[in-house]
Amino acid sequence: MPIELSHVTHTYMAGTAFEQVALRDVSFSIPDGSFTALAGHTGSGKSTLAQMLAGLIHPSEGRVLVDGTDLSAHGRAGRAAARDARQRVGLVFQYPEHQLFEETVEADIAFGPGNMGLGEEEISTRVRESMRQMGLDYDALASMDPFRLSGGQKRRVAIAGVLAMRPRYLVLDEPTAGLDPAAREQLLREIERLHREQRTTIVLVSHSMDDIARLADRVIILAHGECVLEAAPGEAFWQRELLEGAGLRQPRITALLGKIRERGIPVLGRAIMPDAGIEEILDALAIMQGRDVHTCSRESH
Ligand code: ADP
Ligand code: MG
Repeated sequence: MPIELSHVTHTYMAGTAFEQVALRDVSFSIPDGSFTALAGHTGSGKSTLAQMLAGLIHPSEGRVLVDGTDLSAHGRAGRAAARDARQRVGLVFQYPEHQLFEETVEADIAFGPGNMGLGEEEISTRVRESMRQMGLDYDALASMDPFRLSGGQKRRVAIAGVLAMRPRYLVLDEPTAGLDPAAREQLLREIERLHREQRTTIVLVSHSMDDIARLADRVIILAHGECVLEAAPGEAFWQRELLEGAGLRQPRITALLGKIRERGIPVLGRAIMPDAGIEEILDALAIMQGRDVHTCSRESH
């Protein structure tokens, strides 16, 4: 498996009065080319996990393997291999635009590849390419001061800076937090496109079950540092009690279907996307109309 966590436990400030267990015995793997969502209430350990996947936090116990390499390997050869493996995982922090600091968009995006020791031409190619991948017009924006861009543009510049390092695996920690609806939508579309066209393996930390339903093929639900479910969204999201126990809500359409069902209307209540939900409702109405017709015809005899 490309990324594998086995029995990972993490304790912040161990041995002090402030000791905080952030992750408990978490094990899962992330298949190549997948789109995995990490969901959980605030404080459930999502950001700790995201940083661990990128090798920025070493687990107190257990192992994180990327393409078979232990990210916290010891010894000289082990450390070199771990560094290579870490480079394959790109991490987009929460509010990544707080880390923009260069005078132009181009310089900011070029910073990461520059650190990797690449030549100027290669860096320039990568800047253009990652801007295109994030829907940013090179000619219009490359020489601009990042601080003069809109909130959504700034965020996409910050993500382009991570993409310019050409990670195989991209971990995004709540990438749409604080954006207005139009900027959110655009960013989600770029992430979706990146996954579809570049086959980048995506790990998306998100609070929005609607976004997860639309984008992810797997969801891992964390509650109090434990992994309580790993499943396809279509299976995970009709388990209302489990979600509520983790402090999460069902996707809006699934919640609506549940309410309709409680009123005795025979919808399946399994849809997680609006279109499929509409189908369920129409099917249920057809069944009910069938019953009505039946009743009417009986009455007319
Ligand atoms: P999430 O991203 O799901 O909100 P976090 O991974 O940020 O969760 O936090 C998990 C737990 O670890 C929380 O209880 C949080 O208070 C604690 N925690 C996170 N970062 C630190 C830190 N740097 N030092 C101490 N405790 C931390
Ligand atoms: Mg977080």
